[in-house]
Amino acid sequence: GVPVLLHIFFFRSVASPPSSNFLLLGPSGAGKTAFTALLEVKSTPASKKSQTTHTSQTSTLITVTLPPSVPTGSNRYRSINDPSLKEATRNPIRYRLKDTPGHGKLRQTQGIAELISMSSSKDLKTKIRGLLFMVDTAALVDEATLRDTASYLHDVLLVLQQRALGKGKSSTKRDAEIPVLIAGNKQDLFTALPAEEEEVLGDDDGKGVFSFKLLEQVGIKVDVVGGAVKGDAEEEIGSGVRRWEEWIGMCL
Ligand code: GDP
Repeated sequence: GVPVLLHIFFFRSVASPPSSNFLLLGPSGAGKTAFTALLEVKSTPASKKSQTTHTSQTSTLITVTLPPSVPTGSNRYRSINDPSLKEATRNPIRYRLKDTPGHGKLRQTQGIAELISMSSSKDLKTKIRGLLFMVDTAALVDEATLRDTASYLHDVLLVLQQRALGKGKSSTKRDAEIPVLIAGNKQDLFTALPAEEEEVLGDDDGKGVFSFKLLEQVGIKVDVVGGAVKGDAEEEIGSGVRRWEEWIGMCL
């Protein structure tokens, strides 16, 4: 009867709620606000588009729809003939992205605090699935910017390293790993360092504690991928945010 029909209608018209949370960190000026705004625009149907503005002083939580052409980790091993994987028929896959302010004074109270809270959460609604750390690759030629960026990244990775080593925990069961993407933004600018050279950020140059390889030994996977929020509409290689969306897709 009618209730059954209504039931079916309801399930067809409402997309499943997003279940994965990604946290976006990085120094101010890296392009986090621009990236968040771009993803929001791309996820909004044309009929509902309106100019949204975000400030860089507070955290913003947005719900994003993964472009249907981006593969996800959970369907990676399925046959390409599987009809449920066809772009047009795939149910929209959504995730949440939390953008945080990158200004020096707000890092500990907002960015790092958010990371600690999301990485210790057991609740699916708030638990972190992946971490994006955005870097302005064109500004890294400036020594002060490089230092500042590296120091923020080190603080972030330290939180993950301590978590991976299970500091202060008696539990023997390891928490789920948190993959890290270093999103090397502004590859459209001619002063930009190639994304592969972002290893400079992870290099411990004999003094520090970190190298990306060391992190891998404790089970933290760090990927460095270049892109440009500005060039997203263009087809040029290395531009756009597609490869970051693919990284997110692999986490889903
Ligand atoms: P946030 O402080 O990390 O949120 O950085 P914003 O999103 O405010 O970006 C800082 C500046 O970089 C803005 O003027 C952006 O327009 C600019 N920007 C962001 N992404 C790109 C990019 O891919 N290429 C270039 N050339 N500029 C960018």
